[in-house]
Amino acid sequence: MANPLSPDVLVDPVLLTRALVDIESVSRNEKVIADCVEEVLRQAPHLHTERHGHTVMARTDLGRKRRIVLAGHLDTVPLNNNFPSTVVDDLIYGCGTSDMKSGVALALHLAATLPDPCYDITYLFYEAEEIEAKYNGLNLVSQAHPGWLAADFAVLLEPTYGVVEAGCQGTLRAQIRTTGRRAHTARSWRGVNAIHAAGEVLRRLEDYRPRTVTIDGCTYREGLNAVRIAGGVAGNVVPDECTVEVNLRFAPDRTEKQALEHVHEVFEGYDVEQTDSAPGALPGLAAAPAREFLAAVGAEPAAKLGWTDVARFAAMGVPALNYGPGDPLLAHAPDEHVEIGKIRDGAATLHRWLAPR
Ligand SMILES: [Zn+2]
Repeated sequence: MANPLSPDVLVDPVLLTRALVDIESVSRNEKVIADCVEEVLRQAPHLHTERHGHTVMARTDLGRKRRIVLAGHLDTVPLNNNFPSTVVDDLIYGCGTSDMKSGVALALHLAATLPDPCYDITYLFYEAEEIEAKYNGLNLVSQAHPGWLAADFAVLLEPTYGVVEAGCQGTLRAQIRTTGRRAHTARSWRGVNAIHAAGEVLRRLEDYRPRTVTIDGCTYREGLNAVRIAGGVAGNVVPDECTVEVNLRFAPDRTEKQALEHVHEVFEGYDVEQTDSAPGALPGLAAAPAREFLAAVGAEPAAKLGWTDVARFAAMGVPALNYGPGDPLLAHAPDEHVEIGKIRDGAATLHRWLAPR
């Protein structure tokens, strides 16, 4: 099969978006798209290309003072009667158009057409972002080839509708347990009801006033919510245990440890067990490449409230942000689409930022 990512397609990020969408790559099925991308990158004499699983890394080695990363995942969520792509007026419809093959197209277009950028650039096209972290290509590479992620600054081309979304909030889940004493409900004075005791836990959640934190001009809004409650033994038994599962979304000025301490404070006097957590990422907009990028975009940055792979870069000391042409509200939707104008704007912005000086 001829590679659909031909030279005339690579020069046009709109054609390239369609060509990438039309290579099916639902998570765990990224071999073909990774083969096509790898072949394109290996043909570029200004790039050094390597591969790990279905993750492809290509970089310039021009001896520039600074290095940046442009990264995007190759996989999509499962198809939903939206394959292959279709075009209606100014919109490209199809699985992955917004999340995030239009973003991948920008990076691949730059890799193929910009031999002498003002920074050295590492391009990362990785597998399995849409499924569990143990398959995530960026996660695997951070363990197998941490050097591939080394940089002064990273841009993830996830859908943000052309706005810079900086940093990301952390997330922590914990179980708050109340205990009591079982008894027959006919003689309930002999027992202690653990579900009733959970009332105080819920009251504390209701009274909780989450913080709003502004860092580098980005406003993060925290939240602490009960997401599940479990308790009860039988229809005639006073229950002796109840658990309330809570989820804290925390601003990136707190570490995971501080976030857990905060949950312990809120639920002082209760048994708190952490079940899951992931760190946030500071926006890191003070770094020189980030400031120049913001100038090229020409719009105010916003805070990223959800958790994204930027945190993997932050964990390695690399400031990172999200910027892509897709609309995040359309990600994973059956009518997923991307505006052709946003793709062209994104390509122009990246060229402005990275053009040789
Ligand atoms: Zn995505």
